[in-house]
Amino acid sequence: MAKELNFKQDLTACFGQPVAENPTQVMMEAAYKHHGLDWRYLTIEVAPTDLADAVRGARVMGFRGFNCTIPHKVAVIQHLDGLGESASLMGAVNCVVRRGDQLIGENTDGKGFVKSLRELVDPTGKHVVMFGAGGAARAIGVEVALAGATNITLINRSAPRGEQLAQLLADRVQVEVNFVRWDQTYRVPEGTDILINATSIGLYPDVDARLDLDVSTLRAGMVVADVIPNPPKTHLVRDALARQCQVIDGLGMLVNQGIIGIEYWTEATTGHKVCPAAAVMRNALEQVFGE
Ligand code: NDP
Repeated sequence: MAKELNFKQDLTACFGQPVAENPTQVMMEAAYKHHGLDWRYLTIEVAPTDLADAVRGARVMGFRGFNCTIPHKVAVIQHLDGLGESASLMGAVNCVVRRGDQLIGENTDGKGFVKSLRELVDPTGKHVVMFGAGGAARAIGVEVALAGATNITLINRSAPRGEQLAQLLADRVQVEVNFVRWDQTYRVPEGTDILINATSIGLYPDVDARLDLDVSTLRAGMVVADVIPNPPKTHLVRDALARQCQVIDGLGMLVNQGIIGIEYWTEATTGHKVCPAAAVMRNALEQVFGE
């Protein structure tokens, strides 16, 4: 009997602007291929004024889900049918999942970060220093606190944004937080276990940008994590490696949030969660970045 032919693939995507330099597609399609899923992941440029139409398009074209990146993580919420717990706590969505006929917003950024962190250290009882107070910092701050960190020192250039995030963390996840305005070279305090760059400093094309940080205060054994995925070998990553820190680059978080996205999408589509292989996804990215 002739094999049944099917030319209709299951669609997923990333909506953003700018989005062309976002490498997510490479690792997601590598995972789909590796696990025998006849799925596609498209990188789609969507302007803020077109977001409502793009979400409607994804709905009627039966997309299994999509990621949202800059500048859509908050704006997309008004176009969805509901929010998962993390997304509702953070007020931001980076992963939309079709569950039945509903589009539900989830946030996998912070969960992906904590998954990478746990590969090196258990966050419970740890003292954390985090630079940044934007969307990535919000997601990471919430999940690191939920994972049991004792306190978070939040460093940000703009005071209102920093104070707002400090308040959100103190109110919603009951972690001890102190905010420090970033107006001079920062010296990492003694006793810091984990240092996180959650700013966009070092992101392509501004690859030579550096955090205003006294690198001599990075101590051997300290965990240093950078969220910048492109390029992954930022100045911070290189400085931390030279100081014998334990280092997590931005690919770790990117891969792990992608894994959680595929688990959500496949479970909602087939009832069975596909747990993708991290090594396959990371290798695909490393080939692109020539690591
Ligand atoms: P936002 O625009 O929401 O926030 C940017 C943050 O960076 C703010 O705290 C901003 O400070 C700070 N910042 C930017 N430039 C400077 C500078 N020159 N000096 C000091 N502070 C600066 O961005 P997101 O939080 O959404 O994203 C941040 C980064 O995280 C991006 O590079 C993105 O690629 C990365 N990311 C990585 C992911 C991964 O999987 N690896 C997932 C999600 C994001 P201020 O408030 O003062 O403006």
